[in-house]
Amino acid sequence: MADAHLSEFELIERFFSGRDRGPGIVLGVGDDCTLLSPRPGHQLAVSVDTMVCGTHFFPDQPAAAVGHKALAAALSDLAAMGAEPLGTLLAITLPGTDEAWLMAFAEGMGALAERLRAPLIGGDTTRGPLAVSVTVIGEVPAGLALRRSGAEPGNLVVVSGSLGGAFAGLQAERERREAGGKPPAVQDASHRRFFWPEPRIALGRALRGHTRTAIDISDGLLADLAHICTASGCGATLEAESIPRDPLLAGWADAAALSAALSGGDDYELLFAWPARQRTELRVLASGLQLPLTVIGEFRREPGIRVLDATGQPVTLAEPGFDHFRAD
Ligand code: ADP
Ligand code: MG
Repeated sequence: MADAHLSEFELIERFFSGRDRGPGIVLGVGDDCTLLSPRPGHQLAVSVDTMVCGTHFFPDQPAAAVGHKALAAALSDLAAMGAEPLGTLLAITLPGTDEAWLMAFAEGMGALAERLRAPLIGGDTTRGPLAVSVTVIGEVPAGLALRRSGAEPGNLVVVSGSLGGAFAGLQAERERREAGGKPPAVQDASHRRFFWPEPRIALGRALRGHTRTAIDISDGLLADLAHICTASGCGATLEAESIPRDPLLAGWADAAALSAALSGGDDYELLFAWPARQRTELRVLASGLQLPLTVIGEFRREPGIRVLDATGQPVTLAEPGFDHFRAD
């Protein structure tokens, strides 16, 4: 990428190097490849996530939030496997060299990377329409990765945190934009849920050995639960009343709030199977992590997902979840 102001290599040097040290990293930014040395007895867990300007984020969204969310979404996949981050690769396509944007982007991504020990150890920088692709590399003790398969009939369906908050945050942002309102403060709750999600790395790590099955909720509870059910060859029954709704849904009509909790994406909470006889252990885990872990139903032998209301009647479901390629 040539530019009158900043060359590709100056840009990499300035914004994307110097944050590449950590356990297991033999060689970071600057050579043809990064070199990693995972601990003996561990497997590598690798995943990539792409965010495209206009599809996954607003063109005028603060760059720090873009950097944070691109990394958070990718790290959430490591959390869902019970893996701990070793490092990340950033493939970024930029329309130009807006230094203020790049600085804020690198800071937003860098702060989360530092907090969750996921140093930036390489990448690729090209010119074109703005898009950000983050590859995460993690390690997990051999055989202990949390997969989508492995849920058994009788296991509890458990979810972390609360659901629907990202969807509510996105709605609030759309309404604000339509009304031409001022951008919210960074610490605004509705803003935080959609723009600054928190990958549940500590929870994923703590789940290892207790369960074999987890997924992160990126497309929506029902859609992601369906992935577990398909991979595990089972079904599930959920109790609508027990699904933890984000406080941001407090003022919403009941049906709309339930739908947001069931189908709103981007919450990045973890959904997992848990042995029914270990409810006490689940409470211990939740208090240790200071994160709500809520039993919302049970895996069943019969295929399909049923959601029951307070009287035990099935709720009719509309939206299954987000699908980039769904015909509208
Ligand atoms: P090559 O041409 O050998 O693929 P590059 O010239 O693309 O290497 O990159 C030079 C070095 O800078 C490599 O170590 C690469 O990993 C790193 N790098 C390039 N872009 C980024 C980026 N956006 N973030 C972090 N590291 C990057
Ligand atoms: Mg090379």
